[in-house]
Amino acid sequence: MAEPALDAVVIGSGPNGLAAAIALAQAGASVRVVEAADEVGGGARSAELTLPGFVHDVCSAVHPMGILSPFFRQLPLAEHGLVWLRPRASVAHPMDDGPAVMLYRSLERTAEGLGRDGRAWTRLVRPFLDDPHALLADAMAPLRLPAHPLAMLRFGLRSAFSANRLARLCFRGERARALFAGCAAHSVLPLTRPLSAALGVMFALTAHVEDWPVAQGGSGAISRALASLLRSLGGEIETGRRIERLDELPEARVVLFDTSPEQLARIAGDALPAGYRRRLGRYRYGPGAFKLDWALDGPIPWRDPACREASTVHVGGTLEEVCAAEGDAYRGRPPAPPFLILCQQSEVDASRAPEGRHTGYAYCHVPHASTVDMTDAIENQVERFAPGFRDRILARHAMGPADFERYNPNYRGGVITGGVADLLQLWNRPVTRLDPYATPNPRLFLCSAATPPGGGVHGMCGYWAARSASKRLGMRPRAEAAPRQP
Ligand SMILES: Cc1cc2nc3c(=O)[nH]c(=O)nc-3n(C[C@H](O)[C@H](O)[C@H](O)COP(=O)(O)OP(=O)(O)OC[C@H]3O[C@@H](n4cnc5c(N)ncnc54)[C@H](O)[C@@H]3O)c2cc1C
Repeated sequence: MAEPALDAVVIGSGPNGLAAAIALAQAGASVRVVEAADEVGGGARSAELTLPGFVHDVCSAVHPMGILSPFFRQLPLAEHGLVWLRPRASVAHPMDDGPAVMLYRSLERTAEGLGRDGRAWTRLVRPFLDDPHALLADAMAPLRLPAHPLAMLRFGLRSAFSANRLARLCFRGERARALFAGCAAHSVLPLTRPLSAALGVMFALTAHVEDWPVAQGGSGAISRALASLLRSLGGEIETGRRIERLDELPEARVVLFDTSPEQLARIAGDALPAGYRRRLGRYRYGPGAFKLDWALDGPIPWRDPACREASTVHVGGTLEEVCAAEGDAYRGRPPAPPFLILCQQSEVDASRAPEGRHTGYAYCHVPHASTVDMTDAIENQVERFAPGFRDRILARHAMGPADFERYNPNYRGGVITGGVADLLQLWNRPVTRLDPYATPNPRLFLCSAATPPGGGVHGMCGYWAARSASKRLGMRPRAEAAPRQP
């Protein structure tokens, strides 16, 4: 007998695919997720990449957006095994002369370390701290009338600048400028571009709401918790099956793609009008990433030991240096020297390495599809602020853009955040449409990081896509993810 048609199939089990499936199951839909890899999780997986007993995060490592996601905060993920472990500081930004700049949850303590710029840092973030979840709910949504227009207006007035300009307008000293530049560099935009300040403000703000956490046991724990919750709601998951054509899918009323726009166009083929596929073909992916994971025989020997307090270390020196590195990667030149996002998960989570040993993780942005080996450049930057670092390396594992794309076809050219998130493409992703998750085919939806609000392990793209799809199914989505603090 033929299987009864499902309400929904989701192609891909990244955080957005799983979030979409959960939101659909919560609305009463029958859902199956079909995943190419043998394990769920997409950009949230962990593995012993170097030596036995050393657990590394293959992609995402630190999760301010995960712990603060309006959707994830509503889900009982702790009941499904997810434990967030918080560091003593979110960010350390080592400097050549003087102590590292530290970003603590405490605004006062952070401001103290910024000297004469402490008050300006407080002025930048303080207005959002009365109700940060309201701002996050508006900012992590598709373009629409905000529920909290005053907070969004305030945020917009700061974010419209380039990170470089806002840092220079707000701060007089190198320390605060560098700290802000490091936060803004998560945007993967040149820091001289309008809107590159937005992620700088957002990441700075999140650090005063939550210490940027890691998942106990590795980022794969996030995916396992999401998958377990989905199964408890009746959802099904099939792994080890890569979809190349729509007719390979089980019968379903709607299909959600947790894929790149390029894969949506290719897999859907004639089911989408040629004009729409051409527009998907014009989607801009942006710079890629080159990443190293290390098994270490001790902690990273930072010149300033305070750096060990942070889950994330921004390694790259001054505002000018960070601007140069990010600008180079965007414009097609391998950054020399690069700006590093370095994570030291084992400082927060002892389960990541054998006793007394540590894991290290660092990546830099590089030109799209770059084939340049950045190993020496990355390790030289760490040595600059942690002399003797190389002597601690027991083993290393490298991934360049081609490796990322092989690992996950969504990471085209090594792009790790779903595509350029500039003024033209942040909300208009993958193309300009009133409902960016819907396509001209009423059965097909996109739910990946190539939709608003973009990259990161927060599941909000999947959540919003599921709302759009469940309306199409004639089901009532649950009440909107609540912005209020519990
Ligand atoms: C090196 C790196 C570091 C990062 N660091 C962080 C971080 O610290 N914090 C953070 O929040 N975010 C981080 N990110 C970004 C984050 O991982 C992504 O933005 C996020 O995973 C996107 O989720 P997604 O569900 O849209 O897609 P993905 O996570 O890419 O998942 C897509 C899934 O779909 C599957 N798939 C694709 N095509 C098919 C097909 N044809 N058939 C079947 N299955 C298919 C893939 O195998 C994959 O499992 C990082 C990413 C990388 C690569």
